[in-house]
This record gives sequence, structure tokens and C-alpha cells, in this order.
Amino acid sequence: MSMRFISTRGQLPPASFEDVLFAGLAGDGGLYVPENWPAFDRDRLEELQSASYQDVAAEVLQPFIEGALDEGEFRTLIDGAYANFKHQAIAPLKQLGANDWLMELFHGPTLAFKDVALQLLGRLFQHFLEKRNQAITIVGATSGDTGSAAIVATAGLAHLRTVILHPRGRVSEVQRRQMTTVHARNIHNVAIEGSFDDCQALVKAMFNDQDFRERQNLAAINSINWCRIMAQVVYYVTAALALGGPWRRIAFSVPSGNFGDVYAGYVAARMGLPIDRLVVATNRNDILARFFASGSYEAGDVHPTMSPSMDIQVASNFERLLFDLVGRDSARLTKLMAAFAEERRFSLDPDGHARAREEFSAYRIDEEETLAVMADMVECTGEVVDPHTAVGIAAAQKARCETDSPLVTLATAHPAKFPDAVFRATGLKPALPTHLQDMMVREERFSVLPNDLTAVQAHIDQLPTES
Ligand SMILES: *Cc1c(COP(=O)(O)O)cnc(C)c1O
Repeated sequence: MSMRFISTRGQLPPASFEDVLFAGLAGDGGLYVPENWPAFDRDRLEELQSASYQDVAAEVLQPFIEGALDEGEFRTLIDGAYANFKHQAIAPLKQLGANDWLMELFHGPTLAFKDVALQLLGRLFQHFLEKRNQAITIVGATSGDTGSAAIVATAGLAHLRTVILHPRGRVSEVQRRQMTTVHARNIHNVAIEGSFDDCQALVKAMFNDQDFRERQNLAAINSINWCRIMAQVVYYVTAALALGGPWRRIAFSVPSGNFGDVYAGYVAARMGLPIDRLVVATNRNDILARFFASGSYEAGDVHPTMSPSMDIQVASNFERLLFDLVGRDSARLTKLMAAFAEERRFSLDPDGHARAREEFSAYRIDEEETLAVMADMVECTGEVVDPHTAVGIAAAQKARCETDSPLVTLATAHPAKFPDAVFRATGLKPALPTHLQDMMVREERFSVLPNDLTAVQAHIDQLPTES
């Protein structure tokens, strides 16, 4: 039977996979989640212990796409999505210590874990648009890595036009060039005079403007799109299988910003993967760490750090977890989110907070600790890690006393994406993979706009429609 998806805000009828793919944000302002969690068939999982990443993806994602795509079509999309990865294992594990591991998620074309989901998402869009003979405009906000991954995943696709907003001057040069040097005619970059949260608010506002949304046939690639979360569930499963799952419990430490990646781990747990703990690793922008410590979700100011993809104070996917923490009571959730919109804070009841702490731990890692971990890693293991990954490793070290399980830190970006921070910490200059080196000399193309909804909408309205 086909899976149905419901909005966290509870104002919409259940939707199909295809609806959810194109809707991104639900029409009532909520986020889509599966109506029921599908359960892994443990015997099937066991059989997958020596299977390829693609085989595991097909098996794990089957319940979500059932009825929307046939198995063969879906398998073609999966194979296409992961053909561009530079490591056959797609998400290889490296041993760091006796019971500590690193899962490298940066072997895709833009060197960050966002490729894992977006390479598949671009192909899913294209598949359905070809069938419908329709075109869409993808709008997304990026704190650095989403934008380039979305751009590379959609460049040149006939039925898609992609507009990416980034906070001007707040992404690394490599991150910016990965976006602005892609010259396909369907790709448009906009630098906003503001923070990532401003960019994200603009995207949300565009989706909430019904006229604009319909006129442009908007679709979302941010992690508010369920299909991205879904694709990220797969590597939690491959890691667990490689380390003795599905029977052995595993813990994960996840460098977090918008709460999409670690939420995918939570989904894996809901589906029956034995996860011991999910460690939420944040930088100085610690709204999530403060929530798990106190039960109070309270936005602070955004501080630029060495790990810009986590410089986020409003973690959009957190609403999905919150929905479960309030017992899937949409009315209660809507009240909390309204309080947050008005006062920038709310407190969860003690029961809900306690439930959150049963599965999650959270740590805030400051800039000095991040630099120290990067230096230690080179010294103790020979590994050069990027600052986002370093935040994850530092949190894993703090969480080590909470679990005896194998602890896997997600390496979310390649060190060459953040050469300045890596140099500062280690004195080493990580080289870009050869296929990306010409990016540093190619012409950049982007527009600069104020943090103003009307200006951004007018800009998009006048972009050429043909691709
Ligand atoms: C996006 C990103 C993160 C944060 O992931 P979320 O899903 O937003 O929590 C961490 N590290 C890197 C390198 C990223 O690009």
C-alpha cells in the first residue's frame, strides 16, 4: 500500500509521495512526515550486510516510494544518483579509535553530505516532471553546502530552474565558487545582504505567498523536503550493518544545524534500527544544545563560525521531532510554533523533554575546541578533518562516557572545502580534488539583493523561463 504523509500542523488531508516531493513545506506551514513509521524487516536487513550502498538504499526507501515509482525505475534513479561519487562505498567508514568511527559523507560532486540526498532529489524531480510535462522553479536558501549540491544536482535539467539564496560574505570562497561558477542557463545565484536565517525566512515567505508559489510553480530543496531526510536514512543503516547491526546497537554523533541529518537518524531508529544514542553536535550557535539541556527552545543571535553550514538558530526540521514529542498533537504543536514565531521561544513540558533526552544527547563546541580537535586528529590519527566534522568529533568525545556502543561521527564535509580553518588548526593546506581545481579561476555569476521579499520575488519573476 502507498505511504501517506501528514503535515505536522494538521490542517491538510494526507498526501502522496509525489505531492510531498513537490510541496516541500506543507500548505498549512507545517512539515510533512509519514503517517506511520514503516518497520524494517530484520531478516532482509541481515541479508544486506554485504550489499552495496545502492542495494541498501533501494530496500530502505522502498516503503516510502511504494505506489509512486516502480522498483526498476527507482533503482535507475538511485544508480544515477550515486554514479558521481568518488568512493565506491559512497559512505565509507574509517576507524579512529578502539570503538570510534568516522563515516565519510563527502565523496559526492560538491564534497559535502548534502550530495547524498540532493543527487537523488534532482532525479526524482526530473522523473515526475518528464511524466507530467511540467516545469518548476526550485528556490532554496543555503548556509553554504545545500546550494552547491542543489545546483550541481539540477544544472542542465530541462524541467527545472534553480534559484539559490546565500548570505553575502558568510559562506567560504570555495562554497561560493562551487555555486557561482556553474554556468548552466537554468541556474541562478543570489547573494542576500543578511544572515542564513534571513535567507531561510525569505524562502519560507515565498512558499507562503500562494500567488507567487503557483505562478512560479515553486519546489523546495531545503531539508524541509521530506525526500531529503528519507535519502539520509540510508547511511545510518549502512553504517550499522558494517559495524555488526542490525543486532548491535550503534551511536552516532552528527554535526547539526537545521536538524535534518540527525533527524534522519531518528527516523532510522523509528523504523527499528537499534540506535543507542544520537549525539547532536552544535557550534556556538547552540539553540539545539540548549533545548536538549533545558527543554526550552529559544532563538539567539547568529554568530559566524568556522563551521558556517551550522550557523543556524532556527532549526527547521526540529518541528518534525517536536511533533512526536507532543504525541503528534497538531494543535499543541501549532501553539508552540506560534509562540516561537511571536516570542522567539517556548518551553516543552517536562515529559516531552525527558522523552527527547532518552534518545538524544547534545553538546555545544566552541571555536577553540574545534581547532584543538582538528590538530589532535592529525597528530593522533593522521586524519585531516573539516571544522564541521571536528565539531562532531569533539561532541563524540564528550558523549563517550554515555555509551559503550560503537560511536560513529558523521564527516559532513571534505577538509578542502574549508582550507583557511584547516590551515589555522593544522598548518596543512588540503588540496581540492583535481576535478574541482578549475573552479578557483572560473568566472563567477551572481546577483546581490537586499533582505527584502518584494525585491527577491521581482528578481525571480523577471528571470528567463526557458532552460
Ligand atoms: C548542512 C551541513 C550540516 C548541518 O546539517 P543539518 O541537516 O542542517 O543539521 C553540517 N555539516 C555540513 C558540512 C553541512 O553542509
